[in-house]
Amino acid sequence: MTVVGLDDTDSREMGMCTTYAAAELATKIRDSGGRVERLLLVRLNPAVEHKTRGNAALAVHTDLAADRTTALVRETLDLAATDDPKTNPGAVVADCEPDCVPPQVAEFALDAVREIQDRTTATLLADTAGFARLQRGNGRGCIGALAAVGAWAAIDDWTYEQIAYREPERWGGDRDVDAESVRRAAENYYPAVWDTVDNASGYPVCVPRTPCPILYGIRGDDPEDCRAVADAIESEPVDRRATFVTNQGTDVHLRDGTVGSLADDSAYRVDGTVIATPETREGGHVFVTLADGDARLDCVAFEPTKRFRDRVRALRVGDELTVCGEVTDGTLKLEKFAVRSLVRTEPATPTCPDCGRTMSSAGRDQGYRCRDCSTSADGKVERPIERPIELGWYEVPPVARRHIAKPLVRGGFDGAMHPER
Ligand code: ATP
Repeated sequence: MTVVGLDDTDSREMGMCTTYAAAELATKIRDSGGRVERLLLVRLNPAVEHKTRGNAALAVHTDLAADRTTALVRETLDLAATDDPKTNPGAVVADCEPDCVPPQVAEFALDAVREIQDRTTATLLADTAGFARLQRGNGRGCIGALAAVGAWAAIDDWTYEQIAYREPERWGGDRDVDAESVRRAAENYYPAVWDTVDNASGYPVCVPRTPCPILYGIRGDDPEDCRAVADAIESEPVDRRATFVTNQGTDVHLRDGTVGSLADDSAYRVDGTVIATPETREGGHVFVTLADGDARLDCVAFEPTKRFRDRVRALRVGDELTVCGEVTDGTLKLEKFAVRSLVRTEPATPTCPDCGRTMSSAGRDQGYRCRDCSTSADGKVERPIERPIELGWYEVPPVARRHIAKPLVRGGFDGAMHPER
């Protein structure tokens, strides 16, 4: 088998997309008599500064010999938007089974999902493993390309995306996709297919807004269901389609961490107790501070997370949480959180058992009394409070979901789930 990793072929301004380059390579391989076992769409660390959009790297698994494949990879890299100096394509060609890459390469792949990697490490590792390396520009794409080669051996949880591409002459123009047909198909196949439409806003999240060649991408747990939804969508002509196996929707970027020991540019799952009333700041971003012992962690739900912010605003001092998200400048950007325990009462001035009126203070440290009835109480009492939030997991809506974040509807979470759709 031959495993090809590809990355960094696109440009925010000039379009292209590495999934398209991989689909094109797959076509070239088939035209050359090879079989394509699978196309892998690997989402790497979303905190990477140089990403164009979703930090995707691609792998193609094929039975075509490595030397013949390498020639096709070279042609494919010509598709890259290298007129943009920020596009630095890289490809790695490995002559081995996808699950038999050296352990260091698999480790590199998982680290590339969870941390920042450097070019020198990627280059040395690829060369030591005896993999062919092709690059343009500064070759930064080799980081993602090597990670894509190692991903199959490193990751267990995989989902699917069925991507439909536009005719090249339409690239950059408005997309013609019938929103009602998208909504209908999404409804029929939910929850096997998820994040197709954001129900509350009606926004078809499967249709990108960028100048890239993608018309729509349908994500889910079952490739047949993803294809069925794609087939049911009415739109402008589809130039080509491809099914990708992907780590989207898996939370593989998250590691367990503790408040006080979180590094920037990585994403964590961490426990803490709310120590300040959530605060809405300029721009509509909602902040909440957690603590674990003496250590503190600021968390934020950004404005685009929309109604998720109401869940954060509903939190109170003393609530115990598990929060998930990427840490930047010491602040955790919330993707989802679990309410582990809720404060159910608050201290209140006692009421008189005879007349029912609120008692008044009897003086410093002397409790409360009712002047009319001469009843008294030693101190404040605990009054039950209504909480507009329950125990369990809450998540951002599909419109604000990171590619790699696992939608609650996929299941496997500890505790009750309150999925957004
Ligand atoms: P596309 O959707 O077309 O793939 P993108 O959003 O994935 O675009 P790229 O243009 O591929 O962004 O740019 C990401 C760059 O960051 C690539 O050069 C890739 O090799 C590099 N990269 C990916 N993961 C890491 C990482 N963990 N550490 C350092 N660099 C990384």
